[in-house]
Amino acid sequence: MSRTKQAVTIIGAGLNGPLLAIGLVRRGFDVTVFERRPDMRRVPMSAGRSINLAISTRGIHALQQAELWESMRSIIVPMKGRMMHSVQGELTFQRYGKDDSEVINSISRADLNIALMNAAEQAGVQIQFQQRCLGLDLPGNKIRLRDESSRQEREASAEIAIACDGSGSAVRNAMLRLNRFNYSQEYLDYGYKELTIPAGANQKHLLETNALHIWPRGKFMLIALPNIDGSFACILFLPFEGENGFVEVQTSAEIAQFFTRQFPDVVPVMPDLIANFMANPVGSMVTIKCSPWHVDSRMVLMGDAAHAIVPFFGQGINCGFEDCTVFLELLDRHGADWPRVFAAFEQARKVNTDAIADMAVDNFVEMRDRVADPNFLLRKKAELALEARYPGRFIPKYAMVTFHRLPYSLALSRGVIQEKILMELCNPITRVEDLDWNKAGQLITSRLAPLEQVL
Ligand SMILES: Cc1cc2nc3c(=O)[nH]c(=O)nc-3n(C[C@H](O)[C@H](O)[C@H](O)COP(=O)(O)OP(=O)(O)OC[C@H]3O[C@@H](n4cnc5c(N)ncnc54)[C@H](O)[C@@H]3O)c2cc1C
Repeated sequence: MSRTKQAVTIIGAGLNGPLLAIGLVRRGFDVTVFERRPDMRRVPMSAGRSINLAISTRGIHALQQAELWESMRSIIVPMKGRMMHSVQGELTFQRYGKDDSEVINSISRADLNIALMNAAEQAGVQIQFQQRCLGLDLPGNKIRLRDESSRQEREASAEIAIACDGSGSAVRNAMLRLNRFNYSQEYLDYGYKELTIPAGANQKHLLETNALHIWPRGKFMLIALPNIDGSFACILFLPFEGENGFVEVQTSAEIAQFFTRQFPDVVPVMPDLIANFMANPVGSMVTIKCSPWHVDSRMVLMGDAAHAIVPFFGQGINCGFEDCTVFLELLDRHGADWPRVFAAFEQARKVNTDAIADMAVDNFVEMRDRVADPNFLLRKKAELALEARYPGRFIPKYAMVTFHRLPYSLALSRGVIQEKILMELCNPITRVEDLDWNKAGQLITSRLAPLEQVL
């Protein structure tokens, strides 16, 4: 491809923006990123917005392509499986993958964001902070910006603009006024609140380090992800309204009673529970689907701006980083033929981002409810046994999404078939040792083509 210094404007220096910017600069583009927030490396972040993320194969691949993954190893904590906590304090560990090579990695969003911004600036990307995009002047190839400190508004030319401005995207909102722009948003009736389990003495984790902890309680749950400093970043998911909803847990007494009743083993390790709970806001979770993602050759949506999903498959940023991988591959294939690249990008991604959006909603029920169910645990064991016997043919849905880079749409469709096979095999038994291997062989070979044939 030609090495022109064509200018590309990116809106949003969250997680996708800087990663994409690095790929573009390395391909010879002149990249400016406009970010509405102040620079988090200089200004402390607001409370309750520090979520940990689980990075897995798709995200790791994109970071490897940008030659960043090795340097991130020092800021991640591998999580080998789920550690379930019952109300009585019993612990049950359930592996995520077939062995220790299949883990997910806990990383602080802020640490990841800072690492990406540092790397982007080192690569030559210019990030301008406190520059809020207010909208687009499409015919004039411009974006409208407001300087958040001086409140002054201005226009900046943006021949090629890529909107990585997250789930509340201002650019996408501006596109709502365009003819034939399709848009849907669906909020969960659940909210989330961040809490912290501080480090113990000598920065020791007070719970098992290499696990994602879950307190599944049927209609709600608490989770905790390990940090490198010995603390855990926790997220409490409750319905907004009704029984055990945020509406019922507001005063100090209500918070203390709720935790003592539902999560008694957490109370001793969360000394700042009440202050934390009161200080941190309740966030909402939404699925956003829209199309088209691009306007002619001029701008395109990417990451959460194009497809916000709920967090229960731990795939939001993995999916966003995979957007970057695919976009850069298309740019390498077609050169700076932007209309072609934008159209091919949406064609390649939309079916897959729709699929992970739906799987993420389904996984909420699995995490908060089914992980504590003995039948579910039996099926998980059966999945691993079937994978070991039929590699390349039967791969658990969770693994297809998390430990492979198979299209999400394929994980969804094969996942449905596999679920039926598992039902047929597991319904008559209570122990994985009693699996009917003849039947398993028949069902799998007749219903699931080898993956190498379908890719
Ligand atoms: C509770 C929770 C848990 C999650 N857990 C996981 C997980 O375990 N694994 C995972 O992969 N994903 C997870 N996610 C999803 C993940 O956080 C998002 O998918 C990811 O942050 C999206 O990246 P992005 O760059 O598209 O958007 P963002 O990270 O939201 O970045 C958008 C950036 O644009 C800026 N911006 C916004 N509007 C404007 C504007 N008008 N002008 C200029 N700048 C603007 C914002 O300030 C921000 O910096 C989770 C999300 C939540 C809410």
